[in-house]
Amino acid sequence: MEKNLDNVEYLALSGGVGGAKLVLGLSQILAPEKLIVVANTADDFKHIGLNISPDLDTIMYTLANLNNSELGWGQTKETWQFLDALGRLDQETWFKIGDRDLATHIVRTTKLDNGETLSQVTKELCFSLGVKHQLIPMTNDKVATVVHTKSGQSIPFQQYFVRDRCVPKVRGFEFQGIATAAPSPSFLKSLESPKLRLIIICPSNPYVSIDPILRMRGVLDLIAERRIPVVAISPIISGQALKGPAAKMMEELGELASAIGIAKHYRTLYRDMLTGFIIDEKDRRLEADFTEMGLRAIATNTVMVTLQDRINLAQEVLRFGSRITI
Ligand code: GDP
Repeated sequence: MEKNLDNVEYLALSGGVGGAKLVLGLSQILAPEKLIVVANTADDFKHIGLNISPDLDTIMYTLANLNNSELGWGQTKETWQFLDALGRLDQETWFKIGDRDLATHIVRTTKLDNGETLSQVTKELCFSLGVKHQLIPMTNDKVATVVHTKSGQSIPFQQYFVRDRCVPKVRGFEFQGIATAAPSPSFLKSLESPKLRLIIICPSNPYVSIDPILRMRGVLDLIAERRIPVVAISPIISGQALKGPAAKMMEELGELASAIGIAKHYRTLYRDMLTGFIIDEKDRRLEADFTEMGLRAIATNTVMVTLQDRINLAQEVLRFGSRITI
């Protein structure tokens, strides 16, 4: 844990897998009261009667040391009796729900049906699983990502992502409900907190994980008002995504599949919100291009294989953030 007793807070905006890796690193060096993690909930959906929040669960299981590192999602030591039984009843089984994972979805659904907010439910689930750091949904309202494909179909996100394995070519994304969704109260509190020192945009998919968080009403204006550093870490290394469809999406949308493309995406949508960018050491040759863009960038190892990789990157992010003056 950080020895420095400074009264400061760090806010991390995260999707699922890529974001959770860095969040774990941050959680190892920051005391619980200093780290606030806001997760994308535009991937959330209702499936076989259950409220499922994939990104919240990936982060929660990761921080609880319960994540399934082989699959990259779900819980460790998972069993699949429920899914097998569901298949025997001729129900859809493309979205894999393990027996342990099922308990989370049932508890979440029951509590939401009883009138609790997603923020309250997340807090209670985290408490039960021993997660000490603050994990917050971006909103308590419903936001649903729809993928518009080049063939003219519009597909709910999880069907595109899991059932169709990201095969359809994308034309664009729509976040249904985003215009009226309010950022969750704890997210707003964190954005307004005088202790806030740095906003970290995790190495998550910019289109479907980070954009929904930033595009909610008032978020961008609040960030701009704060005049604090905002540092993003590239999820694209040597033109490739380490996992998932980010690079494929970039190509299909006509953007440059590279760390530069990620920075340009954020620049185009969010003007001068970004004040620093971290690229992988394999992309070091791009540093000059960032300087040309007027964006401070550093290169370091961003491939998080071991826990130490996660901690090292988290330390680098905090060091870089502390050197940026606005
Ligand atoms: P999802 O919601 O589960 O798709 O997860 P995220 O949006 O948080 O993360 C997906 C992105 O994480 C992908 O574009 C990956 O390239 C990126 N990613 C995964 N692992 C790593 C890593 O170790 N380092 C970096 N820099 N990016 C990563």
